Parts: sequence; C-alpha cells; structure tokens
Amino acid sequence: MAALPRKLWPRLAVLMLAATMPLVVLLVLSAVADGRRVVDTARDRVVQLARLAAEQQDDMLQEASSLLRVLARVPEVQKVGTAGCDGLLGTVLSIHPRINVLAVLDAGGTVTCSTNPAGKGLSLADRPYFQEALASPSKTAVVMSAFTVSRATGKPAMFFAVPLERLPGGGAPPGVVLAGVDFEWFARLSDGASGASDQLVQVLDSRDGAILAEAPATVGRMGRRVPQSPVIEAFRASPGGGSLQAPDLDGIGRVFGFAPLPGPAAGLLVAIGLREADIRAAADQRFWLSMGIAFAATAVAMLTAWLIAKRMVLRPIDALVRAAALVGAGDLSARAAIGRGAAAELSSLGTAFARMAGRLQARDGRIATMQKQLAISEGLHRLLAENANDMIVRYSPEFRRLYVSPACRDLLGYEPEELVGKHPRDLMHPTDRDALEQSLFGRLLNGDATARASFRVMRRDGSYVWLETSCRRLEDGSGFVAVMRDVSERKALEAQLEDANRRLRVLAQEDGLTRLANRRRFDEVLGTEYRRATRNGSPLAVVMLDVDCFKAFNDTYGHPSGDACLQALAGVLDGRCRRPVDLSARYGGEEFVLLLPNTDAAGALAVAECVHGAVRALAIPHAGSDHGFVTVSVGVAAMVPGRLQGPAALVEAADAALYDAKRAGRNTVRLADASPEVVG
Ligand code: GH3
Ligand code: MG
Ligand code: MG
Repeated sequence: MAALPRKLWPRLAVLMLAATMPLVVLLVLSAVADGRRVVDTARDRVVQLARLAAEQQDDMLQEASSLLRVLARVPEVQKVGTAGCDGLLGTVLSIHPRINVLAVLDAGGTVTCSTNPAGKGLSLADRPYFQEALASPSKTAVVMSAFTVSRATGKPAMFFAVPLERLPGGGAPPGVVLAGVDFEWFARLSDGASGASDQLVQVLDSRDGAILAEAPATVGRMGRRVPQSPVIEAFRASPGGGSLQAPDLDGIGRVFGFAPLPGPAAGLLVAIGLREADIRAAADQRFWLSMGIAFAATAVAMLTAWLIAKRMVLRPIDALVRAAALVGAGDLSARAAIGRGAAAELSSLGTAFARMAGRLQARDGRIATMQKQLAISEGLHRLLAENANDMIVRYSPEFRRLYVSPACRDLLGYEPEELVGKHPRDLMHPTDRDALEQSLFGRLLNGDATARASFRVMRRDGSYVWLETSCRRLEDGSGFVAVMRDVSERKALEAQLEDANRRLRVLAQEDGLTRLANRRRFDEVLGTEYRRATRNGSPLAVVMLDVDCFKAFNDTYGHPSGDACLQALAGVLDGRCRRPVDLSARYGGEEFVLLLPNTDAAGALAVAECVHGAVRALAIPHAGSDHGFVTVSVGVAAMVPGRLQGPAALVEAADAALYDAKRAGRNTVRLADASPEVVG
C-alpha cells in the first residue's frame, strides 16, 4: 500500500479512540459509583446485623430471666442439694440451646447443682452478681453479671442470677439459681447472620480492648487485647453504634458494623465485619464486564471503521496515488480503479482524474499527430527551401542572417555558411543602402508585418545582381524571414520599357515627318499659354502658314519630294525666327503654326515676315507655282486673351487671315482683322 493510507490509519485509530473514550470514562465513573453504592449498602447492612445481634442478646436476657424466675420456684431447685436438681437442670438446658450452663448455689455461694459437673462444689461467694442476687429485696429481679471468666470453663461468659424462692417460714433466700451464656457461643449465634461466607463476628470490651469472642472460632484470638483497633476507636467515638471501613487484625479490608450490647456490662459491643473484597466482588465483576464490553465495542468500532475506511477511503486513495504516479511517469493510459463502496467524493475524484488523464491522453495523441505533421511539414519546407531557385533567408531580430538557403550559391556565388551571422548591409550596393535601411528594415522595425524592396547585391565575383526581397516578420518575435529573387533581367526589361515609354511620349507629341510638335501638342500648349496670358494680361499670338499650290508640287515632283520640302520648311520654322519659348508645330498636311507667347501683333507679324522670307530664301523650285519656287501664305493673329474668348478664337482669327493671304494671291503675310481684343 502507498505511503499516504499508511499514515492515515494511525490518525483514524486516534480518532476512533477519541470517539470511544467518553464511553469508557462514563463506564469507569459508573463503576466507581456502583462500588461506592455497594459499600454504602453493605455498611447499612452490617449496622443492622450488629444491632440485630445486640437485640438477640437482649432476647436472651429475657429468656434467661424468665427461665430463672421459674426455676427459682421449682422445689427441686428451691431445696438446695436435692438429688433431682442436676437432672432437672440438664433437661431444662437441653431445650434452651442459647443457655450453656445452669447452676444452683446455696446461700454460702457454693455450687450445689450444675449442668457442668466440673463446676460442682466451686464457691462463687465472692462473685458480685451472686451477692447482689442474694441480697435483692425483689423476688423476681434478675441480676446480670459483668463480663466474667467462668471458673468452671475458663472462658469469658455472662451470668444471670435470681434468688431462690424463700422457703415457707420466711428467712433469707436459700440460694441463687444462675444461667450462663458464653460469648463464644454468642458469637457463633451471630455468625452467618449476614449470609456472607467470610464474615467476622466479634464481641469486644471497649474498656480494655479485649476480644471476648470471635467467630469463626478458627481465628483463635479470644482473650487478646487490641485497645487501639479501629472498631474500638469507632465505638468510643460513637457508643450508640455505627459502621466503618478498616482492615481487620489480619490486614484484610472489611466493612464493620458495631452496636453496644445491652445490660449492665456497659462498654461491650458486637462488631460484624464483611470482607470488602466480597462486597465489591459483584460490583467489580460488573465493572470488568463493562470494561470488557467497552473494549470490545471500541475494538469492533475500530475494526469496522478500518474496514469501512479501507473500502471507502484507503483503497480508493491508494488507487488514485498509484494511477497518479503512473500518469506522472508518462503512462497516460493509467486509471484509478475506484470500487463501488468508495466515498462519493473519492469516486468523483476518480472520475475527474480519469477525465483529466483521458484529456491528457487525447492531447498527447494530438501532439504526436501534430509532431508527425510538423515533421512532414518541416521536411517539406526544408525541401522547398533547399531546392527553390529563390534564396530564403532567416534573420534574427537584429537582421543577422540565421539561415541562408543553398540558392545563394547560384545567386551570389557564396556558400550559405559564409553568409550566416552577417548583416546584409555588407554586400549592399552603396546607392541602395539607404533604400534598404528605410523601405525594408525601417518598415519592419516600425511594426509592419511585411515589406518589399529591390536592391543590388554584390556577388562574390564583384558584379552586382538585382534582388527583389519580400520580407515578413515572424509572429513569435524571433526575427524575420525573407525570400530573395534575382530580378536583374526584369530590371533590364523595366529600363528598356521606360525608355520606350519615354520615346512613345515624345512620339505622341511629335510629328513624325518634320519632328515638329504635332497638332495635339500644339492644342495643349495653346491652352496652357492662353490661360497664362489671361492671368498675366499679356498678349498671345498665332502665326499660321500654308504651302502654296502644294498639290501641284506633289504632282510635279512626287510625294517623297513633297515630304522633303515639308521637312525643309520645318527646319525654317524651328530656326532662327523663333524664340525659345515659341512653339512651332505642324498643324496638318502642308499647314504649320507658330505659337508666340507674350507677343503682340507687331511682334507676330515680324516673325511671320521672317519665316515667309526664309522660305522664299530656301528657293525650292516649284514648276507648278507662278513664283517658280515654293512659297507660303501666312495669316497672323494676336490678342490679349479675355474671359469671353477662347483659344479657338485666336486660331480661327489666324486661319481667317491666312485665307485672306490666299485670296490675295498667295505668297504673302496677312494680319487678322482688328477686333476689340485682337490687336492688329
Ligand atoms: P493652295 O495654294 O490653295 O493651298 O493649293 P494647294 O494645292 O496647296 O492646296 P490643296 O489643299 O488643294 O492641296 C494640298 C496638298 O498638300 C494636297 C496633298 O497632296 C498635299 N499634302 C498634304 N500633306 C502632305 C504630305 O505630308 N506630303 C506630301 N508630299 N504632300 C502632302
Ligand atoms: Mg493647305
Ligand atoms: Mg497649300
């Protein structure tokens, strides 16, 4: 059995003893009271017995008196010395067992007749009771002797004496008749009065402490003087009778009752002593029986408690302790076998324990499954990391490399071990260093979960490779993980694309043939400049040109020559007549336009004339033209833009002026008609 129940048992025993202790104490107290009661009852009884014995003595006195009075008148007795006296006394004695001697004394005190032959002839003349009886004036008075040692038997005795009836003729009584009672006999009489087997009866003389008689006679202490005996002391203190508990002369504890003997022998007492052990025997027996029952009850209670505790508590606890030890050692299948008789609390505990162990077991199973899955997943991830073209790097929270996948060999020409433990800054292109610190590390350190950046990293051979890095913060705070991909090719493509776009942008605003701004570009700049001029209140001018008879030129020289002609004209427009802020554009077909910010009509006209002259100066032959050379017609319009007009009005005005020039025979410059806003 486990340690816990073993410790529990002594506590249980102590508890049971504590529970039964009041019963035992109650039984002991009850037994003590019982013993006291028995002794008290015995004391009352021995007092009664002692009194009864004393009363018997009185009865005997009465009996002896009556008998002696009768005998004093009987002639055989009255006539002293008669032959029939002995026979008569013997007969009378035989029917009075309580009297042990009868005798007749003559007037001189000599025993003339006696039931004890040995006493015949003895002289008792000196005995006071004899003298008193003889001298008694009453015929019937009975004289009782004091305690006397019989001269005939040598034993303590008492005598009753009556004077003989006077003979006819008068005179002194002829003698005395007496009856004797010895104390031994008296004691024998009293013996057995209590019914107890071992009772002690004593007749004592309190004056000198003499033991006058004692029963049972076997004790043999008659005549001894014990003046200091407890019984005599008690009698002296209580002459009317009483009781006491004291050891007798043999040292045996007794309960004594004592009472005074009546008559002239004052100071005599009868004491009856019962053995204390005998008195207490029944009570003691009851006491031990009670103790036995108490002990048996305690033992049965403890045994029962033990059996119940074993079944209800100890076994279940033992089972729980064993199961807990097994579970603690890792055997999660262990369960506590709690029997049916177990305490409800322990059954509940057992159930709770089983549930807990079950959950642990289930969790253990789940953990095992998870570990298996984790191992598979880890293997898979490792497989991916080890075999991916992308380089996978794990960083510490301080961005030191903790792991670098083998792809670093292809990407950077380094072995993973050469990179682990170092900071990525070391291999960074100096230009990209700040970008890396801010857009990648900075964002992650500022709390972003992910960050992405591209930068150049130096390979082992000194060349740089563009790496696009996607970095993520690990949720457990253990650092970061990054996936890096070589994007050098993509970066090159991006650069090409950017260049193409730039060129496209130019193309979208440029006329392909002449390289001048196209119509779209012109419209944009016109709008912008018109708004600026409106804001500033500054003039804005437009010069519009159209090649004269160009259809014929094409027809004569062919389209390619027409194109070359147009390119030559564009060179003039983009040439010296134009200020840097001016915009020259191909308006469409063989029509061109100049936008002249901050230019009034005069300025614009001057520019128009300049261009017109310059075209003519090119001296491109044109057989189909009346002038023999390629010429242009020019329309000029200038205005300070107001809120009511729009840019279209300016263009329309220039176009109208151009139309005027055409109508005027071509190869000329015309300024638009004056209007409130048009300065011309
Ligand atoms: P006008 O003096 O009234 O302007 O007569 P014109 O022949 O110049 O005018 P018209 O509108 O009848 O003809 C314009 C010609 O310009 C027609 C077309 O063939 C020619 N043209 C327009 N764009 C180009 C071009 O890009 N290249 C060449 N070679 N010819 C062009
Ligand atoms: Mg035209
Ligand atoms: Mg034309």
